[in-house]
Amino acid sequence: KMFGYDSKDEMISTHPVHLYESKSDRDALFMRIMSQGKVLNALIHYRKKDGSFFWGNLNCQRVMENGEDYLIGTIVDVTLQQEQTRLLEESEKQLREAQRLAKLGNWRVAPNEKTMEWSAECARIHGFLPSSTENAFDQWVDRLEDISFEEILDGLKKFAAMNRDFEFGSWYKTPNGERRYLYYICRLEESKSAYSWYGTVQDNTVLKNQEEELISTREFYQNILDSIPVEALLIAADKSFYYISKNAIGDDELRSWMIGKTNIDYVKRRNLPLDIAEQRNEMIERAFNGNLTVRWEEKMITRDGRDSYHLRNVIPIDLKIGDEEKRFLIVYSFDINDIKSAQFRLERKNDELEKLNKELDRFVYSISHDLRAPIASVLGLNALAEECEDNEEMESLLAMQREALDRLDRYIRDVIDYARNKRLDITPKHLSIAALIEECMTDLAYLNNYSEIEFFIDVEDDCSVFSDQVRVKIILNNLLSNAIKYIDHSKEKCIVSIKAKKIDGILHLEVTDNGIGIKEEFQDQIWEIFFRAISDVPGSGLGLYILKESIKNLKGSIDLESEEGKGTGFFLKIPDFEA
Ligand code: ADP
Repeated sequence: KMFGYDSKDEMISTHPVHLYESKSDRDALFMRIMSQGKVLNALIHYRKKDGSFFWGNLNCQRVMENGEDYLIGTIVDVTLQQEQTRLLEESEKQLREAQRLAKLGNWRVAPNEKTMEWSAECARIHGFLPSSTENAFDQWVDRLEDISFEEILDGLKKFAAMNRDFEFGSWYKTPNGERRYLYYICRLEESKSAYSWYGTVQDNTVLKNQEEELISTREFYQNILDSIPVEALLIAADKSFYYISKNAIGDDELRSWMIGKTNIDYVKRRNLPLDIAEQRNEMIERAFNGNLTVRWEEKMITRDGRDSYHLRNVIPIDLKIGDEEKRFLIVYSFDINDIKSAQFRLERKNDELEKLNKELDRFVYSISHDLRAPIASVLGLNALAEECEDNEEMESLLAMQREALDRLDRYIRDVIDYARNKRLDITPKHLSIAALIEECMTDLAYLNNYSEIEFFIDVEDDCSVFSDQVRVKIILNNLLSNAIKYIDHSKEKCIVSIKAKKIDGILHLEVTDNGIGIKEEFQDQIWEIFFRAISDVPGSGLGLYILKESIKNLKGSIDLESEEGKGTGFFLKIPDFEA
């Protein structure tokens, strides 16, 4: 039945050679039996009736009986076992080959006994001959550069407790001096008396070198990128940040938080106005949709609350990420604060220049008018005086000449004040207000109306201000001389009152009169250079302009209250200059 025959007779009638794979196989077997008298556990490839084969385990011996030669024995079908052994051998061979190809070795260590078993590939990886296991353990531990024996043991125990493999990589020096990067995966086996561990090792030198090269290449470019004072970012098609350079965001935590977020998330987190994000998104869309470079100037607010200007550029770019080509935007920006502040300075200077130019025009006009008029009248009066023989008439001519010269003198003084306010640096010192008012009154005592006025002066005790003397004097002089000049002769009593007091480091100064007052329609214009609201009283039209500029320089303010026919009041605030 084992041979697939229907009956014993059928098999006996079959030629025995048929039962073997070949005639030579049968001959060889018979030669062995004849010479040795028996075979034990011979593995024979037998042929069945249908031509297929099976493996038989043959035990037999030669027996002589009644002068006849017999062979008696047993055949066991071991095809299944045989197939398994073959498969096992095959897979072991494959494993060895795979390990060789993968540069993967396996090993087992019992550190207490300092013994090490390893596969041929494992020995090769460590630079040893497969046979030389002597001292291998100590050598192995010594040759690992990045990890000590204690660290390995700790790691093994820690991971064993979690029922996990312990993995580590280290540079290793082979006995012939070659450096290799070896990667181990191992597991601890603990018994009561001792422990050992086993695992695999892989030679990852090539990979490691590539990785290190990649890291150093990346660091190289990163370094370049970080060294140029340009902020660089990559933005994905969904407007989220894909890459951010250190120059763009210095704060490491914020930078990594921002990856995958959008400008809207960013301004919300930093409490910045939403407009900034909206403007950025608009530019991003424009660049994406139009496939073009977009550039704009952005006003940002720094963490300490200052305005900061940036020139931003967005450029579409296709980048390969893995296998996919994706569209991104490169954003690069730099700070243009220096350029911006230069621009602002220039604009300010331009405005100033324009104002100066206008003033100059008016000066030219005024000089031809106001400066020439008194001179012309002095010359005319002089010609009359030459012909004059009457003493009384002469006196009046001289008085008229004097008046014209006074006007000229006032005009020149005003021009000098104008220049002093414009050119002189502010040099603050402690100024006694009472002393300054007195000085001013002495200077103005020669003015025509002076004697008709009753002055009320109310200055707080020790009232002083830490400010610039030249300008405070210009201010007082102009206010008082106007109050004197523009008195209302129709009034019974002409009154000018001056009040000064200090509140919270600010000098409050009031000069009020019951003079002719200023028409409401002129009250805004009287501050303009050369503006005069009245023509029958001589003046340059410079006084209030210079006064206002001086107050500006002293960082003060002035208010006006006036009613035509009733009087005028000027109310000033002049702060102490910061030391
Ligand atoms: P000026 O006095 O040389 O004309 P100002 O610039 O000092 O030039 O004054 C401008 C104008 O403001 C004057 O022409 C005058 O009409 C008006 N004004 C200034 N101060 C007074 C005042 N205290 N009372 C009435 N009018 C005044």
